[in-house]
Amino acid sequence: MVPVRILFAEDEPTIRKYVSRGLAEAGYAVDAVKDGQEAWLAAQTVDYDVAILDIGLPGIDGFEVCRRIRARSDHGPAILFLTARDAVEDRVLGLDLGAEDYLVKPFAFAELLARVRVLLRRGPSGPAVLSSGELLLDPAARRVTVHGDEIKLTAKEFALLEYLMRNAGRVVTKSMIAEHVWNFDLDGESNFIEVFVYSLRKKVDGPLGRPLIQTVRGSGYRIDALDSP
Ligand code: CA
Repeated sequence: MVPVRILFAEDEPTIRKYVSRGLAEAGYAVDAVKDGQEAWLAAQTVDYDVAILDIGLPGIDGFEVCRRIRARSDHGPAILFLTARDAVEDRVLGLDLGAEDYLVKPFAFAELLARVRVLLRRGPSGPAVLSSGELLLDPAARRVTVHGDEIKLTAKEFALLEYLMRNAGRVVTKSMIAEHVWNFDLDGESNFIEVFVYSLRKKVDGPLGRPLIQTVRGSGYRIDALDSP
């Protein structure tokens, strides 16, 4: 069996050693690099399954490495940011750039391993296409189409739609969405989720010719049960 290959970019030597040793012990083939330039060079020469990128790296930062990896290919590694920064804007920027996940330092190594396993499950052999009438969402190709025409979504709009479709037929609350799509607790005052639901509806409902996402007053959102595969 081909080992899972992980790129790990971290400039802090202690964390770099500790995490790369742990990943190797878990059976992964790990390339640990200490700056953004090395990370970018490695990403161009090896087909990694997962890239774990610290944001604050010398030279090119983790955001830029992510942007370059995503600009280079549609089939690059799953990307997880590892960072001391926990500002919402940073998390949103990372996900907008095409990262799949985010882990804020300090973290438990067991949690990092669990996140890596989740990313690997989403890989190329991952779930089949989800469909609701003429709307198709392909999680592996990260593509949404209506009547065969692609709808361009941002990374977080895609994640939101995928989450709603995976929970089709059920009501999902805003805090469930915040936790599962963005990995953070929702501040009670925030209209964050509403803004993303609004932009998603604007892109999808027109081509689809019907409202896809229903608002369930006082609770959250719901998409009707999907077509069976
Ligand atoms: Ca750093």
